[in-house]
Amino acid sequence: MLRGVYPGSFDPVTLGHLDIIRRSYNIVDELIVGVLNNNAKIPLFSVQERVKMLKEATKELPGIKIVPFEGLLIEFVRQMDAQLVIRGLRAITDFEYELQMSQTNHKLEPSVETIFLTTNVEYSYLSSSTVKEIAAFGGDTSQFVPEAVTLAFNQKKKESNKDE
Ligand code: ADP
Repeated sequence: MLRGVYPGSFDPVTLGHLDIIRRSYNIVDELIVGVLNNNAKIPLFSVQERVKMLKEATKELPGIKIVPFEGLLIEFVRQMDAQLVIRGLRAITDFEYELQMSQTNHKLEPSVETIFLTTNVEYSYLSSSTVKEIAAFGGDTSQFVPEAVTLAFNQKKKESNKDE
């Protein structure tokens, strides 16, 4: 049985991520989406919020697991008893970092392979940071993110209006 981990920050999940999730779901027998809780970066959405939005956005995929993790990716992959790491490649700018990461992970755990899915051209320009920027300036994010994320952005806006 082939078990794969698709790791990321997903702050928040975009339609580009969802495309990679759906395609990798069709490749592996069991897909785990690993949501990184990185103490070095302050995310817009807490790890619990990110997990919740991902669960909502993937509810039509039976058996998919959305699991938060901290620390070394390869440790998480071992804990999940997975054989594969899946990453998405958007542009050449992603390549250098991804190459380094996959080679390091392979050195740390030779039994785990990393595979890359190239982004759907429709979403190649899309990133969580762009989406956050659009939302911060009051723009409409609904064509870039699943509905659960648009709702969460609206909720955040309401809360910050109340605070003012
Ligand atoms: P990280 O901070 O680990 O890069 P992200 O949440 O930004 O986490 O991205 C997780 C993975 O999804 C990465 O492999 C990234 O290249 C990929 N990805 C991000 N945006 C897109 C997109 N629009 N299309 C395809 N893959 C994407």
